[in-house]
Amino acid sequence: MSLLAYVETYGCQMNVADTEIVLGLLQGAGYQRTHDPAAADVILINTCAVREKAVERVWGRASTLATYKARRPNVVLGITGCMAEHLRDQVRARAPFVDLVVGPDGYRRLLAHIEEARAGVKIDDTVLDPDETYQGLDPARAATGTVVGSIAVQRGCDRFCSFCVVPYTRGRERGTAPDEVLRQARALVAAGGKEVRLLGQTVTSYRHGDVDFASLLQALAGIDGLERIRFMSPYPLGFSEDVIAVMAGSSKICKHVHLPLQSASDTVLARMKRGYSFGQYRDLVRALRTALPDVAITTDLLVGFCGESEEEFADILRALPELRFDNAFTFAYSERPHTLAARTMPDNVPAEVKQRRLAQVIDLQRQITGEIHAAQVGRCERVLLETPSRRSPDELLGRTDSFRSVIVPAGARAKLGAFVDVKIERANPATLFGSPSP
Ligand code: SF4
Repeated sequence: MSLLAYVETYGCQMNVADTEIVLGLLQGAGYQRTHDPAAADVILINTCAVREKAVERVWGRASTLATYKARRPNVVLGITGCMAEHLRDQVRARAPFVDLVVGPDGYRRLLAHIEEARAGVKIDDTVLDPDETYQGLDPARAATGTVVGSIAVQRGCDRFCSFCVVPYTRGRERGTAPDEVLRQARALVAAGGKEVRLLGQTVTSYRHGDVDFASLLQALAGIDGLERIRFMSPYPLGFSEDVIAVMAGSSKICKHVHLPLQSASDTVLARMKRGYSFGQYRDLVRALRTALPDVAITTDLLVGFCGESEEEFADILRALPELRFDNAFTFAYSERPHTLAARTMPDNVPAEVKQRRLAQVIDLQRQITGEIHAAQVGRCERVLLETPSRRSPDELLGRTDSFRSVIVPAGARAKLGAFVDVKIERANPATLFGSPSP
């Protein structure tokens, strides 16, 4: 009987991709994935340290999952990912029952660690490896299915924004070798994949030897059978004209750009150490919309950062109607240990003010997204059907080129993995609904 592995994932797409690498390793060693922690021989929590809420949730889950270990002492329980890296001392203090603490650069050694842990050794592997790109390891593609696959083309981050833990948890930037990216993309196509998502913390600054991001995109666009290429997330600096030109020149490269703004106030951006002004950001948005008239631009916004005044916050409320993002991920600032902000700037915006500002931004963006979605009604969109819909077994969820979610009734043409032309019939701020056009 094969051993069973249960993996719970928190955080960003990069962490989801890391879970696929971990599952690929486990499956190669004969494990099968289970969604029942009570049946698992190995339980891993692949964690995120970017926000305090996610960290608190993991402490709770670790205690709950430890009860399965208490019933079956041979079970190996591990915490992996960014929290393992960033809060390793706290993990030992707050969750002493955990067998493995493995950071994002330690997965190659995971199978050996599991064996040692089974023999009673407590494992700590949180050394950052500036060269680790997981070359040669095949992801299990269990989390995203086979229609769409992710490839981490760049790991780590060199930017050190003052609020962010990523450079501390994932180390410095390094690009995956282009041959390896192409190998993984071809393997995805051979397994039935239609779309690849290229991941990196500042993905447009990808470089490996002489190959930059524009040339990587061009090489991927040459793969037969690969029909869509997306990337996330670019950084507002270093988004080159070459990348924009390659996007404009290839119908395979999706016209969707997730471009984190964070704040529209120059003084807040300076305290965040983002390195750009609102004007520079706006110029990039204009350049993208000029070169790619149908481009959908989404963003990240962080409210309540250290010292954010009402006037600084109001810059965000003025920017949203001007830039009209397709959508925005919005967050209230929470201090992360060891960052520049935590060391040098008081977290002095009261919690209720942060929540009020967050609600204002969410409301305004929801209204704008609703208007953009309403304008899609009546249009015909090419949709890749990615997964069954959660609402009904008779419906499928797909995405437009611009990354809008579309619900479509399943049918003879509307099958998982198929591209269909869909007439958009109705919309709300979260989703479009339509039917295959005759
Ligand atoms: S660019 Fe800034 S916010 Fe993004 S991962 Fe790097 S340090 Fe964090």
